[in-house]
Amino acid sequence: MDWDEFAHWGKHISEWGAQYHKALPDTPVRAQTALGDIAAQLNQVPPENGEDMAAILEDFETIVMPGMTHWQHPRFFAYFPANAAPPSMLAEQLVNTVAAQCMLWQTSPAATEVEGVMVDWLRQALGLADGFTGVIQDSASSATLSAVLTMRERATGYTGNKDGLSNKGHLRVYCSDQVHSSIDRACWVSGIGQANLVKIPAIGPRFEMDVDALQQAIADDLKAGHTPAGIIAITGGTGVGGSDTLGPILAVAKEHDLYTHLDAAWAGSAMICPEFRDEFWQDVDGFDSIVFNPHKWLGAQFDCSIQFLRDATPQLNTLKIEPEYLKTTGAPVTNYSEWTIPLGRRFRALKIWFLLRSYGLEGLRQRIRNHVAWAGELCEEIRAMDGFEIASEPILSLFSFRCPGDDATQQSLVDALNDDGRIYLTQGEIQGRKVIRFQVGQFDTTRDDVMMAKTVIQDIWEKIQ
Ligand code: PLP
Repeated sequence: MDWDEFAHWGKHISEWGAQYHKALPDTPVRAQTALGDIAAQLNQVPPENGEDMAAILEDFETIVMPGMTHWQHPRFFAYFPANAAPPSMLAEQLVNTVAAQCMLWQTSPAATEVEGVMVDWLRQALGLADGFTGVIQDSASSATLSAVLTMRERATGYTGNKDGLSNKGHLRVYCSDQVHSSIDRACWVSGIGQANLVKIPAIGPRFEMDVDALQQAIADDLKAGHTPAGIIAITGGTGVGGSDTLGPILAVAKEHDLYTHLDAAWAGSAMICPEFRDEFWQDVDGFDSIVFNPHKWLGAQFDCSIQFLRDATPQLNTLKIEPEYLKTTGAPVTNYSEWTIPLGRRFRALKIWFLLRSYGLEGLRQRIRNHVAWAGELCEEIRAMDGFEIASEPILSLFSFRCPGDDATQQSLVDALNDDGRIYLTQGEIQGRKVIRFQVGQFDTTRDDVMMAKTVIQDIWEKIQ
């Protein structure tokens, strides 16, 4: 392909993209294909000779698109959103086109310098204290793994990487039972082990860590000769939005000199609104590490996860490695690949720059406030439905409910709703009972889209009776 053809097809794809997004409201949200349908339509051997882009794009439309679930659909109420605001998509197109690998300052100084400033813009937007720096990672899972590795190294005097973990006893990490599975996985792959991730029961309407139980667990572990290494708190857990009260957890961490990490992957975006900071983020500045995903609720196209660090040194002491081929000469510079597990890095900061400049914080705040308000309204509508119960009250824009019947009935309703296609939602669990989750957060959703969900739920519920 030459560059004139590239320009032609690039224009074609942009136009296709605009039409795709305009047509989304009339498209089923979840892909309606059966297992294997898409793979069966692909040639099972690679082509020996090149094909025309026109033919490739035609197959993309007829074979691939029917198998896509539409995350940018305004009635996507499943999981958490993965918002891609149009300006952030444009930034990604530019990043894809320039196609730089930004592992070191010198491999693209602009990428490093824009990243530094964007992390600081977001620090200010979230009201975090002046001293926080940070890095853009691909995912909250990677940021949390980085934090857990730092806990491990700090607790072993930075000898785990060098010497391994044998003869180091049991390092213990504490969190509530509401955390995302990425915390479990970080403990698996760091060598700490699932058995040493101590899950403290969550209590109260906010599903928050029971701090007395945390204290007791640490005391028991010390008595047993274990080594407490760190605490992971959450704001906005995946299941029902579980949110810890931060101050008392930090006090326990301080008493035992533990490294602290806060997972606010979803809810962090809402902290651009001062009222939500007041509600959820008292004392947040005491955390050593905080992760939030602008690729979830804020609108920076996937992938884009920010890890803020109160002091980057422990993480650098854990992850930095500098073979000869990566050394650079001249003045000391920031090389963000030293802060993370992967070496190669995309230029993720550009989409944050485009997003924040296009909407301004105020434009983004208004969206998030609407989502929270509309989730509250819909929750009341569902509460009033005959036999339905609210299983967890709204935490920001996430609540859960149950229809009349057992767990299998909840799943049947979820499946029937998703087969219908007008809305898309997913199930969760509270204390062993299946619930139906509902989150409002898609970038283009309107109040009408949200309120329509009630009609659809009622309609499908009547059909499956
Ligand atoms: N933490 C929470 C609370 C989440 O909801 C999720 C994903 O939904 C994650 C962490 C993992 O995020 P990522 O996909 O960026 O690894």
